[in-house]
Amino acid sequence: MVGAPLCNSWITVEGGRIKAIGKSNDYLHSGIDLGSVAVIPGLVNAHTHLELSHLSGRVPQSGHFIGWVRSLILNRNKFHDQDNLNIEQAAVNGIREAKASGTALVGDISNTLLTVKLMHEASLGGVVFHELLGFDMTKVKPFVREARKKIDALSVFSDIRISLAPHAPYSVSAEMFREIRRDLDAHPEVVTSVHLGESAEELEFIAFGTGAWREELKILGVWTNAWKAAGETPVEYLVNLGFLDRQVLVVHGVHFREFDLSQLARLGISIVTCPRSNRYVGVGSPPLENFYKAGLNVAIGTDSLASASDLNIFSELFEARRIAPSVPARTLLQSATINGARALGFGKDYGSIEPGKRASLVTVDMPPNEENVEEYLLSGIQPSDVNWIEAEI
Ligand SMILES: [Zn+2]
Repeated sequence: MVGAPLCNSWITVEGGRIKAIGKSNDYLHSGIDLGSVAVIPGLVNAHTHLELSHLSGRVPQSGHFIGWVRSLILNRNKFHDQDNLNIEQAAVNGIREAKASGTALVGDISNTLLTVKLMHEASLGGVVFHELLGFDMTKVKPFVREARKKIDALSVFSDIRISLAPHAPYSVSAEMFREIRRDLDAHPEVVTSVHLGESAEELEFIAFGTGAWREELKILGVWTNAWKAAGETPVEYLVNLGFLDRQVLVVHGVHFREFDLSQLARLGISIVTCPRSNRYVGVGSPPLENFYKAGLNVAIGTDSLASASDLNIFSELFEARRIAPSVPARTLLQSATINGARALGFGKDYGSIEPGKRASLVTVDMPPNEENVEEYLLSGIQPSDVNWIEAEI
């Protein structure tokens, strides 16, 4: 992930960390022969919602975003409180599935914080974004303070960090964005995330205060006449609120224009793309090639099982390759590894095979005579071809 693939090579590991890497002809020590495999660092799924795993197969694919959101809310409410055990079990299965396809780190959106414990039990690291919503909320201080208390009351696990995260500009008031920003400023060691520029309906609503979102907010009973249209794009809106900086991961950006992308690049922002989910919820495909051209740190995520058929980052890479044929294979692989690790604040320990980093290593079975390893890794690798090698260390 930091250079061309090394063929016929070895890796030495000590104390759970990579000690050295080299070519086979300069290392004659006895070791474990891994066979015909590609060794890669554990993958990074920078945007998912593990606690929505129970909705797998329940929210149908949609031609328009609002329809998908309605179906999501309906199905989520059906389950709420009734079936906590099933929700938890589905999240456990989701974590298992993510790990089986080579995932080492996740950026997980959680409303309930249920996943903190589950990730820890499964030795899955990453950031849990404790997501807050409140479109009509103006007295936000006590609400955000409560959420912060909930986080602080949780046990601290070394590979799991937790932050407060606003859902999106059409579901969170300006006051709440400011309050979460204050919380972030007090916790510079964590990153947060926000869904941004996902649908055309969002752009219309933020700019003019009109369209299907306004109607939907009324139906949901949270519309407030106090809300004033920003007259600008979602990116400009959050820039002007003082919310966006390096600490914020921007998720989706399907409808970002060139100016938005250059603004985000200027701020050193990481963007997380979830192309399969975008297609599923009916918002189109992200301008992935433009994300790279703009110089953004592009990470990749599966989103939840309510809008993706699995939590396999290799499946997401397959879709990324389809929609961004001009992007080099290595660049796409970096998005699924080192870029994601950096975006989540774990770049020092994860995302590449370098001396000193965690030996969080995955093998992918290679067909005989496959010349282009990197392109092969974008061809839709299945969990049956993936193995962790930590057990052998
Ligand atoms: Zn999401």
